[in-house]
Amino acid sequence: MSATGLLGVFRRSFFHLESRILQAIGFNNHAVVPALSVQGPGIFPQLHRNEETEEHSFLDNIFWMAAPKKRRTIEVNRCRRRNPQKLIEIKTNIEPCSECGNLKQKHVLCGFCYEKVRRETAIIRGQIQAQEGKPLNNPAVETVVLYEGEKPADTDAGKRIVERKRQRPSWFTQY
Ligand SMILES: [Zn+2]
Repeated sequence: MSATGLLGVFRRSFFHLESRILQAIGFNNHAVVPALSVQGPGIFPQLHRNEETEEHSFLDNIFWMAAPKKRRTIEVNRCRRRNPQKLIEIKTNIEPCSECGNLKQKHVLCGFCYEKVRRETAIIRGQIQAQEGKPLNNPAVETVVLYEGEKPADTDAGKRIVERKRQRPSWFTQY
């Protein structure tokens, strides 16, 4: 008898003996038998899965679906970039401001004139704050701005008067 045949006989007899012992104890062959189990980190090399034989999941392809499959030619890219719908529209509603002469959009307040008035009113507000300390505390009386060479009228009695040390600009509210 060869060595492999002897091994097979030995193995068969061992399994037969094992099943007999388990039946005697109370277990049968098909039931769960006690076994050694180790809970811990996967330090044993046989516990690692083989990467090469592992089948690729169908989920792997989903993350690549947004990537372009074909390169777009430069002609196609230029047609997209120079599309008339994407170009900046040329404005034709530009006219010079009748007050200052700067170019401005039609039917739109001139930014240069607005900036001048905004600075002047900011100075006036600062002057009111210096006089009264509360520029935002709106009084019930009207505010009158007097420039150089201007005298308060009789109707201005009782109103809040702010005096400016300069000539009244032509673009400001006329007195
Ligand atoms: Zn203007």
